[in-house]
Order: sequence, then C-alpha cells, then structure tokens
Amino acid sequence: MTHSVTRIHRHGASLDTLSVVVPVHNESAVLGEFHRQLVIALEQVPLLAEIIYVDDGSEDESPRLLRQIRLGDTRVAVLELSRNFGKEAAMTAGLDHASGDAVVIIDADLQDPPQLIPQMVEAWRDGFDIVTARRSSRAGESLFKKLSSKLFYRVLAATSDVPIAIDVGDFRLMSRRVVDALKQLPERNRCMKGLFAWVGFTQKELSYERAARHAGTSKWGFWELLHLAFDGLTAFTWAPLRIATLLGLLVAVGALVMGGFIAVRTVLFGDPVPGYPSLICVVLFLGGMQLLATGIQGEYLGRLFIESKQRPNYLLKNLQPASDLSYSPHVSKGR
Ligand code: UDP
Ligand code: MG
Repeated sequence: MTHSVTRIHRHGASLDTLSVVVPVHNESAVLGEFHRQLVIALEQVPLLAEIIYVDDGSEDESPRLLRQIRLGDTRVAVLELSRNFGKEAAMTAGLDHASGDAVVIIDADLQDPPQLIPQMVEAWRDGFDIVTARRSSRAGESLFKKLSSKLFYRVLAATSDVPIAIDVGDFRLMSRRVVDALKQLPERNRCMKGLFAWVGFTQKELSYERAARHAGTSKWGFWELLHLAFDGLTAFTWAPLRIATLLGLLVAVGALVMGGFIAVRTVLFGDPVPGYPSLICVVLFLGGMQLLATGIQGEYLGRLFIESKQRPNYLLKNLQPASDLSYSPHVSKGR
C-alpha cells in the first residue's frame, strides 16, 4: 500500500525530487487554475517535481479533470480513493505514495498559495525538516469560522501534551524523514495537526495572507468542524477526562462540607425551613455533571472502538502513476 507512484528512474541522480500532495474533493471549479499556478510556482524550484492529486471521492467533474491534467503533464499522478474518506485520509494516502525527498501538502482551492512553495524549498535546503505557513489573515471566511478556529487552536494547544502550532494549517513542506516518521504512526484518528506536532524535528514558519477560496465552497460546516475539534482533542489530550475527575472531586468535597455545615446547624438551631427547591437544584446539577462525565468517557471509548477495528485509513480505487518527472512545461510548450 505504501509504494511510490513513480515508475521511472530519477533523471540525474544529483537532482532531488519534490512531491506535491493535493487532496481534492469536488474542486472542479478551481482545479485548472490551481494546476496552472502550481506549474508556474514549480518552475522556480530547482528540483524534479511529482504532483500527486488525491481524489477523495469527488462527485463532480474533478476525477475527469484530473485525468485530463495528468495527460497534459507527465509529472502528475492521480490517486482515486474508493469513496470520500475525508481530508485527513486523503493526505495520508498522498503521503503514503509520495516518493520525493521533500513533500509539500497543499489545498486545491488556492487558499494556500503555491507561490510560497519556492520559499519552502529554500528553507528545506537550509536544513529545516518542516516548513509551515502561518496564516496572518483569513479573507472570505465568516466571523464565526475565524473565531471558532481560533478557539479550537487555542484549546488544543493549551491542553495537549505536544506543542501544537497555532493558526498553522496543513499547508507545509516536510522532509523525507518526517514523512517516514508520520507513516509509522498507525492510528485511525488522523488529526494531522497533532501528528505533525508529535513527530517533532526542526521547524521553520513562513507567514502568508490566507486568500478567500478561488471558487467552490468549503466542505466544512459547523458539525464537521465540531467533529474535527472533538477528534483533535481526544487524540492528543486526556485533559477532558481529568477535568471530569477534578470537577467530581470538587463537588463531592463541597457536598461533604455543606453536609457537615447543615448537620451542625440543625443540632444547634433546629431545622426551621425545609430546602426542597435548593435540593432539587443540587440533584439536577449532579445529574447533569454525571451525564457530562459519562459522555466524555464515551467520546474516548468510541474512538478506542474505532482504533481497535484496525481498518485501513482509506481504500484506493485507482492509481494512475506519473510517467516522467523530468517533464518541463517550458520546453514542451515552446514558450
Ligand atoms: N478535501 C478533501 N476531502 C474532504 C474535504 C476536503 O480532500 O472530505 C480537500 C479539499 O478539496 C481542499 C482541502 O481538502 O483541497 C481543504 O478543504 P476546504 O477548502 O473545504 O477546507 P477549508 O479551507 O474551508 O478549511
Ligand atoms: Mg479551503
């Protein structure tokens, strides 16, 4: 499953290869423009390039467009997943099949600028294993998305045991050894932001203005984002479990102290007012807390259940390899 898509021998053993992994789900509106910009950016990179488009079960024209793009550019490989497995799985598939000495992951919707790739390669050449891109601004995204994304990154960074970078998306360059390290991580719950942080290595951060989507719509609605947040939290921290424990302890101690206080007061002053309303409040509060704590345990248990099945992260329907990485659009189009 993890062999590379490139059949050919490397031309000129001294030239390194760069793999560009692009997860694609219903992006027919932007694919042509994306590839055009990517090709221009890659012309400034002194490496052989391999471009791996991972079609994550698109229902639109994307698969057909990708085949067409591949016919016009021999560096392009296309992986087709058997259905929509989600962006994390699509990226995993791309990484599994990338053969480059360095690998760039980039969104197809032009929200991650391909123009940044030459700079990333330069930093990699300077010895950095991971080159990330911090979003200094986010155009065209709703206030809610900006706020919730901010909150998610902050909470995850604050509670997780590994240093998760804030406001850094999946757009990044990784050296071969980082990719190999990632491939060793067997978990099904592939919250990439956490896994990227977990593997470590030396990092450099570039900064860019996040543009609005070139065309098409974002696949992430409220529920998808909530799911992603839960996945991220439960994969990299057990702080919620600990908080449940601590809260339970706090309430129990509080109840003991209050009980003692009431007992003493009753002995000294009698019991003039029966406190039914407040009693009901306490009962409801405790019931709610117990449900919450059980729910949190369930979130972890459910994920344990998924992990225990050991199913593959994705299934391939079709693999179209790149035919020749030495292709140069400059030469062939006579520009
Ligand atoms: N994507 C994917 N599978 C999915 C959803 C998205 O491969 O199930 C791809 C999508 O085609 C794009 C990238 O992941 O290249 C980011 O998706 P999107 O733009 O919807 O996310 P956002 O930028 O809103 O976070
Ligand atoms: Mg996007």
